Amino acid sequence: MKRLGIIGGTFDPIHFGHLLAAEMARTEFDLEKVLFIPTGNPPHKDLNRVSSALLRSEMVRRAIVDNEYFAVSDLELEREGPSYTVDTLRFIHKTLVIDQLFFITGTDALSEVFNWHYPDELFKLTQFIGVFRPGFDAQSFVDISLQEHPEIEGKIHLLKVPALGISATDIRRRVAEGKSIRYLLPECVRLFIMENHLYKDLK
Ligand code: ATP
Ligand code: MG
Repeated sequence: MKRLGIIGGTFDPIHFGHLLAAEMARTEFDLEKVLFIPTGNPPHKDLNRVSSALLRSEMVRRAIVDNEYFAVSDLELEREGPSYTVDTLRFIHKTLVIDQLFFITGTDALSEVFNWHYPDELFKLTQFIGVFRPGFDAQSFVDISLQEHPEIEGKIHLLKVPALGISATDIRRRVAEGKSIRYLLPECVRLFIMENHLYKDLK
């Protein structure tokens, strides 16, 4: 494969923000596929507050079923211990033949990238597509990062996506408060949430 996109996330639940970010990145950057990788044990999220890996990955599976360019990988779910992006990217390079890897991430998450494990190696393994999210001055982040780390020149691309205001936190809160979540996420995921009584009480 020449160009592969990856979008990692808790996906608790997956919503149109994720799906649009992946689809726009795919078309803008000419990606052959986008791989959704649900996080196993998010190192920076409180484990007691995250739905089970099985439920989260099932929601992703249902959400992407009608897009032939999307796939889901449980590789982080099968790994013991905390999930670090660098381990995932190393694994992908070891198991797949790819020319270029693009890691799709919201600018909220991207602004922390120099605090992730082995940032130098990360930038060797992948380029980043930073999707604008509210409340983050992404352009300043890129400008400052380039001043401090000139070697990452050309490795961060910014992308605007229409559904930037949607967040999983807001969806969970709405469910807990008995409010509607229609049109924020695929209908099949909404039904799955209802059937499984997810997010009824905010833990
Ligand atoms: P939470 O509110 O629980 O943090 P989230 O909506 O941010 O959930 P995550 O699973 O944390 O979703 O996000 C996975 C990735 O998708 C992150 O890189 C995040 O920045 C990005 N992302 C989430 N929502 C959007 C959105 N509306 N537009 C663009 N990117 C998004
Ligand atoms: Mg988030």
